Amino acid sequence: MSNQQQQQMVDSRRTFAIISHPDAGKTTLTEKMLLLGGMIRSAGTVKGKKSGKFATSDWMEIEKQRGISVTSSVMQFEYKNHFINILDTPGHEDFSEDTYRTLTAVDSAVMVIDGTKGIEAQTLKLFKVCRMRGIPILTFINKLDREGKDPLELLEEIEEVLGIESYPVTWPIGMGKRFQGTYDRFSKQIEVYQGNKESYFADFDGENIDDEVKKHVDEMYLPTLVDELSLLDEAGNDFSIEKVKQGLLTPVFFGSAIANFGVQSFFNSFLQLTSPPQPRESSVGTIQPTDNNFSGFIFKIQANMNPAHRDRIAFVRVCSGKFERGMNVTLARTNRKMKLAQSHQFLASSRETVDTAYPGDIIGLYDSGTYQIGDTIVGDGKVFQFDALPKFPPELFVKVRAKNAMKSKHFEKGINQLVQEGAVQLYRTPFFGDYILGAVGELQFQVFEHRMKGEYNVDLEFVRMSHSIAKWVDKETIKDSMFDSRVMLVEDRDGHAVLMFENDFVWRLFQDKYPDVKFLDPFNL
Ligand code: GDP
Repeated sequence: MSNQQQQQMVDSRRTFAIISHPDAGKTTLTEKMLLLGGMIRSAGTVKGKKSGKFATSDWMEIEKQRGISVTSSVMQFEYKNHFINILDTPGHEDFSEDTYRTLTAVDSAVMVIDGTKGIEAQTLKLFKVCRMRGIPILTFINKLDREGKDPLELLEEIEEVLGIESYPVTWPIGMGKRFQGTYDRFSKQIEVYQGNKESYFADFDGENIDDEVKKHVDEMYLPTLVDELSLLDEAGNDFSIEKVKQGLLTPVFFGSAIANFGVQSFFNSFLQLTSPPQPRESSVGTIQPTDNNFSGFIFKIQANMNPAHRDRIAFVRVCSGKFERGMNVTLARTNRKMKLAQSHQFLASSRETVDTAYPGDIIGLYDSGTYQIGDTIVGDGKVFQFDALPKFPPELFVKVRAKNAMKSKHFEKGINQLVQEGAVQLYRTPFFGDYILGAVGELQFQVFEHRMKGEYNVDLEFVRMSHSIAKWVDKETIKDSMFDSRVMLVEDRDGHAVLMFENDFVWRLFQDKYPDVKFLDPFNL
């Protein structure tokens, strides 16, 4: 493939995740986006929570029992000569490290905010990871068909709570029952809300109200609109595409996903404002997506997608070159050469065999225990390793052991395998070597327990620990005398020292008492 063709393949791709708090409208928005691309026959197949049907992305039995999407799934569709990869993140409160890790495989994120609620806890957590990666974040403020918060207040909240500049690209005219539509500050058009009918677009320069505009928008709203637009121009942030690309400024859009209002305009802007697949740092320097050699990394390992076959799928984000089914690759960690014969691409409701894939695409590889989270695979040429994925500090901890001591071999095998897959984090206590599991969400423990029973036939005994904060620490700066029941020293799987604190208060007290203890950044160990 010529360099020019490769460049074209890269430029036409967008890979993003949607982040939000449960019920903000992520699923609805995803469905409407997929419909834009004509990808699925009818919306509603992404998640079966409300319809009672289960989508194929809800693989695991536990998901069926609870009717939620535990695992993030991947969807690809074509729209306006672009290949769009959406990585879904679990929207449930019990979200897990998978949610975080998904954000390491995308080039941008869409943040959905419920306009009646503003910024909620889960959005904030996910936002921080996007921020840490410096990726563009576009904001969609949803549910404009309901009476919500004042839009200016929402902007203020975004700036204050999230610490990012905002630039409203569209601006609402009325809301709830009085919702008239939105004004697009770039195209200088009013998108007129017409209930279930398709939107009508009317030109408006933002100042001079002519008959055409009056015909479509109730006149009483127009003076307010003109005032607010001039306020935004004068007191608001300037637009800067550079800042958007660095994740320092979020373009904001208003709409109603359920009414399919504002989704298409949002998505059109999305294509313009976001970047194609970006370079990635590795052990041999920066790897460009346009490099000819294939490379990718594994950000997620999913077991039991098909319970009948008990297969495991490793999700690979392609970073450079071209993937071809049947190609030979090297697994950088072990230097092992392999032929990738079975590979899958993910569509909204099925997975299909994929023959080729380009940077930004996600492929699924069958895995019989070969891969680990963070692994790099490379095609011809030099073997290298992409920078390690960040560690995400867990907030929940349990001590765990096999109920039946006779099962300890199975227990160890299972725990090591599942930890390698990234299902939970594992810590050991010094001296006694007790097993401690750490998770970001409660559900991770439940999935872990379920799989230990189902796949390794081991019943577990859990003891909940009172600790809720994990901090990586420089071993050289700590002493045994610093620890008690509220501050505990453990080691992570890579032998890094981790201090577990009962709560924020204990942690702050500790810092005051021992100012010389050096804490390390878990995103960069
Ligand atoms: P998720 O949990 O973020 O995936 O949210 P869903 O897409 O499942 O939506 C949560 C609820 O909000 C559902 O009952 C949706 O029908 C509803 N919803 C989604 N978008 C809108 C919207 O634009 N307006 C209104 N009024 N409701 C919406």
